[in-house]
Amino acid sequence: MQRSGSQSERLGAGGGGATFIAKSSASEHSMATSVTGNSGGGTLPRTLSTSVLRIKNRSTFWEKFWDERTRRDAHGEDLIVTPFAQVLASLRSVRNNFLCLTNVPVAKSRRSSGAATAVTPQPKNLNPGDEAYMKLALETVEELDWCLDQLETIQTHRSVSDMASLKFKRMLNKELSHFSESSKSGNQISEYICSTFLDKQQELDLPSLQVEETSERTKKKEKPRLSGPGSTMSQISGVKRTLTHTNSFTGERVPRYGVETPHEEELGKLLNDLDRWGVDIFRIGDLSCGRPLTAVAYSAFTSRELLSTLQIPARTFLAFAVTLEEHYVRDNPFHNSLHAADVTQSTNVLLNTPALDAVFTPLEVCAALFAACVHDVDHPGLTNQFLVNSSSELALMYNDESVLENHHLAVAFKLLQNEGCDIFVNLHKKQRQTLRKMVIDMVLSTDMSKHMSLLADLKTMVETKKVAGSGVLLLDNYTDRIQVLENLVHCADLSNPTKPLPLYKRWVALLMEEFFQQGDREREQGMDISPMCDRHNATIEKSQVGFIDYIVHPLWETWADLVHPDAQDILDTLEENRDYYQSMIPPSPPPAPIQTTHSAPDDDRPEQIRFQVTLEEGEGSEECEGEGDGGM
Ligand SMILES: [Zn+2]
Repeated sequence: MQRSGSQSERLGAGGGGATFIAKSSASEHSMATSVTGNSGGGTLPRTLSTSVLRIKNRSTFWEKFWDERTRRDAHGEDLIVTPFAQVLASLRSVRNNFLCLTNVPVAKSRRSSGAATAVTPQPKNLNPGDEAYMKLALETVEELDWCLDQLETIQTHRSVSDMASLKFKRMLNKELSHFSESSKSGNQISEYICSTFLDKQQELDLPSLQVEETSERTKKKEKPRLSGPGSTMSQISGVKRTLTHTNSFTGERVPRYGVETPHEEELGKLLNDLDRWGVDIFRIGDLSCGRPLTAVAYSAFTSRELLSTLQIPARTFLAFAVTLEEHYVRDNPFHNSLHAADVTQSTNVLLNTPALDAVFTPLEVCAALFAACVHDVDHPGLTNQFLVNSSSELALMYNDESVLENHHLAVAFKLLQNEGCDIFVNLHKKQRQTLRKMVIDMVLSTDMSKHMSLLADLKTMVETKKVAGSGVLLLDNYTDRIQVLENLVHCADLSNPTKPLPLYKRWVALLMEEFFQQGDREREQGMDISPMCDRHNATIEKSQVGFIDYIVHPLWETWADLVHPDAQDILDTLEENRDYYQSMIPPSPPPAPIQTTHSAPDDDRPEQIRFQVTLEEGEGSEECEGEGDGGM
């Protein structure tokens, strides 16, 4: 496409600061009921200031979109990339130009959003016949034509959200295909990112997004099966053992920080810091005698007075927390209860971000923290891909769709049913239903293959807010509110690279070890080794850089934009960490005369995957291949 919105982002840039109003109702179950319009009488709407974020770093993911542009505006520092916001921006531009050209008096009341005030037409003295007048008139027609083109070619069955996520996926695919051409390790990293963060469903939908293989994989041995004990289909069982109930608080005294530990005082000091990004969660793990999740969850809930607000008995809370923590698999290097504690603590901090102050109800805050606590419970230390490829019981149970995430949810809600574990026992029925729905939505969106859709929705929200005249966004309906919460928990789940470097490095080592153990298993069972899972052939540093550039940074940048300027420090740390890993990438070995670095001695395994990118919307198609078999 020749001119993809080159004018639209110009307009978006003019706006400067934007604000959004988030309505929070005092009523606990407002989310379910306030679908229409104002949530009304309870509390005052909060006006949040989220001005345009000027990222000071190098090339970001979004800047890749500039390639498509033919020109940029003088003050076009700000980039609008989501389709819906672009059309909105374009129409606003047309409107402003029209005012300039015609000088018609405008009644502000005609536009309820207050748009007229946001970008005032320049009081230029344009006279019909002037060169400048002609130029503006032509530009305006061009802008309007572009806008009409966009609307005419919209696939009406797609939602605004689909349009944005498809655009992003196409972009990511294109980037990855270039990246994969750069080297063998680049190819493996691309394959990893593609298989982890792009939705298979969408790929089927859009054949061009498929990661094709140059030859068909051959099945080798009999497929391994993962089955828990008592693997009756109708039962929710643990992956490695049956679900149980840990009743550890028989004594009179509820421990001050929720866990019995000889280091209570020192643990208390760390837990007092629970609102700080980058608290030493590993130390909390040590001091809590292996119960970091219980300690963190209890502290977060009590410090927010959620136990009293939602009438959760402390003993019940602890019984549940301990039981939950017991159902995290201790042997997993990464997906154990320390990761859950980390995500819960990070969620806790993000919920405290000033921009979101008083936006969410106690029930919503509770749901977000609860979702973070349970989001990986009974994780087997294997990826969704592995579970699907090995026809595991879990994949059968959930028909290959978000297998792990469905399982985490089922286990979590099952554990609530244990005697004395139902922390929501005193909620009204309506509140319970709302909370359950929110938790399900949030945990399902921790499936990394949903990443692009989540990001596209968030970006559309942020950009629409910027472009829309007054910059006002009402978080007054379930969809918008849960979208922010889903992204919040997703950010927390992808927060390792934003933490102080020593913590980040420890997480990387643990995650890689978990991947490698899966790779070992795949090797033993004659399966293809998943990307990044081969301990003899992994490029850790480079993969972290790719992971940050393509996934983590675009997400956090968008989040930072939403809550600007609250997350600037987080973004700074992320960029510093990225530079560290970039500097640690070992120099690539000189090209070997014969390709001997191949991991497994299976000749029928494709050397490189092929990324096929077909651009839609008449942009022509482009096919990118990685280094083909011996094709160098
Ligand atoms: Zn997680």
